[in-house]
Amino acid sequence: MSAIFRVLVNNQTYTDRSSHALQSALSHAYHKSEAFCMCHSQPVKLIIKCYHKGTLNVMHGLARWPETGFDHHQDCLFFGDNPIDRLQHALPAVVKTEEGLQRIYLEAGLELPSKASVPGQLKSFKSKSAEVKRNRLDDATLLNTLWRTSSLNIFRGKSTQWFQACYAILNAAKRFIINQSGATLDQYLLIAAANHDKLINAHNQTVMAHAGNGKHQLLVIGRLHHIHPEKKRQILPLKEFSGIPRISVQREQLESFLNAHQHVGDNSIGQTSKIMLARIAPDNKEWWNCESLNGMITDQNLIPCNSIAELAFAAFLVSQERRFVRIIHEGPDDLQSRCQFILIDGFPRTYCEVFDSLLQDGVDNIALRGKFFEGSGKRYLSWIREDGSPFPTLPEVQN
Ligand SMILES: [Zn+2]
Repeated sequence: MSAIFRVLVNNQTYTDRSSHALQSALSHAYHKSEAFCMCHSQPVKLIIKCYHKGTLNVMHGLARWPETGFDHHQDCLFFGDNPIDRLQHALPAVVKTEEGLQRIYLEAGLELPSKASVPGQLKSFKSKSAEVKRNRLDDATLLNTLWRTSSLNIFRGKSTQWFQACYAILNAAKRFIINQSGATLDQYLLIAAANHDKLINAHNQTVMAHAGNGKHQLLVIGRLHHIHPEKKRQILPLKEFSGIPRISVQREQLESFLNAHQHVGDNSIGQTSKIMLARIAPDNKEWWNCESLNGMITDQNLIPCNSIAELAFAAFLVSQERRFVRIIHEGPDDLQSRCQFILIDGFPRTYCEVFDSLLQDGVDNIALRGKFFEGSGKRYLSWIREDGSPFPTLPEVQN
């Protein structure tokens, strides 16, 4: 499926991204007029960008405005969201390169300190200048970034199976450059897939073959299985574990993960998955040691859910055959970022906020939020699970 590309510049429509005609139109329009994406009936404003300004290689391009990514058609080239950096006025943690790859700045590098060097020294990207602060991805945010890049937080009307997620994650990891020597994340990432998943198994074999020198840590993504609460140390219990080495994990590590996600709980709403991102270091020949454990709970379609209300609402949307995004939050807690779901099968987009109980918030605040969204031309709806209220009426689907 090729992405939709249909833009309007100076009242002229262009459908070829690389055409000279579009380049010339953009260079005329730059700083003078606006460009719009025409992926569906509702035009969405685009930014005209200028690259290599003042050189012979000057080029123009188009980009989405912040917070308009989900206003585009789901197959549009500009559909999607931008990661939000926690530190404002600092350099971003994820930077697009011209080759369509992304540089990611990890909080902790994957190289192990050699005996001569300072323990914990980072071998990932370093800041060029000490004064320039840079956002960095911790492992929990890295997992979110992988999920978002793989579009695993989007329900497009078809259920998502774990093997599909494995491929999507691997492909996303191949596009992330993680250090100065140009290594990509996939070279350090094991993905816990089923036995018969040949491609992922071959990938894991390659990763393990290069991990033999014991000089770096690895990351492992997999689904957590039943833990043995009586064992102080156990093998990391993964649901699928083909090609994964033996990883020793402490009971406290598993317990603190489970406690952090207790409020999502096992429940009657449907099957959930506990997704783990483990950072592991070689221990001895046979074993690796789990250094840290991060993760999230997803519904049966691998959509991240952070409360029982979210699981119930996601199941409701799926039963209604709706297409939606589960927004992955990281940034400052503004009104818009409080919503968990956006319906992407109608216009204007509907932002949905769901609560386990109203105690977390107040009726006044909900009314305020409704006004905020109305003012910005978007729809807002809220749903509270605890009071047993029926699911809200959803706006109609329009394409
Ligand atoms: Zn568009």
